Amino acid sequence: MGSDCLFCRIVAGEIPATVVRETDTTLAFRDIDPKAPVHILVIPKEHYADIATLAQGDPALAADVLATSAAVAEDEGLLGDGFRLMFNTGAYGGQEVFHVHAHLLGGAPLGPMLARDLA
Ligand code: 5GP
Ligand code: ZN
Repeated sequence: MGSDCLFCRIVAGEIPATVVRETDTTLAFRDIDPKAPVHILVIPKEHYADIATLAQGDPALAADVLATSAAVAEDEGLLGDGFRLMFNTGAYGGQEVFHVHAHLLGGAPLGPMLARDLA
């Protein structure tokens, strides 16, 4: 994927980001347009388009993304009051960047899971 993918370019250091944690396989950095006091994106360094592709293709790497998310949540002091971990996926999910990323959101009550009830 590489040069066509925004988050691959962040992994490569070609686009700056405020990195809060890095492991051999994952990177966590602050969202450029935060929607909550804490809004961090957690990604695998390797390119997978979305969480379904990642979980089916490399479950151990998906687990690494979760473990890094938990470590960042702890670093950010979110474990006591709670937080939300979210993978927007595909068109209905509102995904805009097609390199899988967990949104880690917290630091304030986050309100309902969806803006409105669609059921
Ligand atoms: P999605 O809608 O795909 O789930 O979320 C993409 C997220 O990436 C958005 O929250 C957006 O603010 C964030 N984003 C887009 N471009 C950049 C960037 O260049 N740097 C950082 N740090 N975040 C970005
Ligand atoms: Zn990528």
